[in-house]
Amino acid sequence: MALLDGNHAVIWGVANRASIGWAIAQALHREGATLALTYESDRVESRVQELVDQIPGTLMLKADVQKDGEIESVYDRIKSEWGHLDTVVHSIAYAPKEEMVGAFIDTSRQGFNTTLDISAYSLIGITRPAVSLMPEGGSVMAMTYIASRRVFPSYNVMGIAKSALESIVRYLASDLGPQNIRVNAISAGPISTLAAKGVPGFTRFKQAYTERAPLGRSTDPAEVGDTAVYLASHLSRGVTGDVLYVDEGYHVVGF
Ligand code: NAP
Repeated sequence: MALLDGNHAVIWGVANRASIGWAIAQALHREGATLALTYESDRVESRVQELVDQIPGTLMLKADVQKDGEIESVYDRIKSEWGHLDTVVHSIAYAPKEEMVGAFIDTSRQGFNTTLDISAYSLIGITRPAVSLMPEGGSVMAMTYIASRRVFPSYNVMGIAKSALESIVRYLASDLGPQNIRVNAISAGPISTLAAKGVPGFTRFKQAYTERAPLGRSTDPAEVGDTAVYLASHLSRGVTGDVLYVDEGYHVVGF
């Protein structure tokens, strides 16, 4: 029997084959989970369709996390198709382009609000309506980055969003623990994705990992997928409110 047989998982935020959400989808599927993938824009629809076609039986659902009605529609569909849910994966981030160039001190109020709404608040927005579908408990996980705790050039307001996201993980873990719903984050090292392309100097970040991380290489998205399997499975039943680093050990190095 595979580790996730009978597990039903929704992965929020798959844009293309490079997405971390897709690496997670492949790993959860390999272990027997049934999947729903969400995407936001028509721009990526055909690419997401190609991915969904590779895993027959996968639901493909369109939703913008800034719109509560669209979030509700995703769970309405999941309820009618599956009746319940075991795993929620949050793999979503966005900051306006102009906020990722120049100095952090120039962050605009509007840019701050948009970034925090999509990249952090959305974890609350997609978890609250999932709870009633998890009567036996479940696992919620979000993708974060070490810029939540340290300064990375150009990461700017996204660093603040990741700090908020990790704090939200702890508060949700506290709220939902009594219902046996665990909430954690995976802090991945740099991976070349669509979102990463929007971070100026991203290739320099990635290079730093190969030079300084104890494992001497940059992060493979499949490693994040395997950690997501652990968090979705009973193997992590005692783990909640935590941030698990999948960054080849970069976060422990001082110099
Ligand atoms: P990605 O493939 O571009 O995924 C980001 C996803 O966020 C896309 O599917 C995007 O959808 C979605 N999104 C943006 N605004 C949205 C909205 N309003 N409503 C719904 N979805 C929205 O990039 P990724 O690197 O895999 O990012 C996934 C997560 O991993 C993010 O939280 C990111 O911060 C985190 N992470 C990434 C790295 C890295 O180095 N890549 C490292 C650590 C953590 P559309 O494209 O359709 O707008």
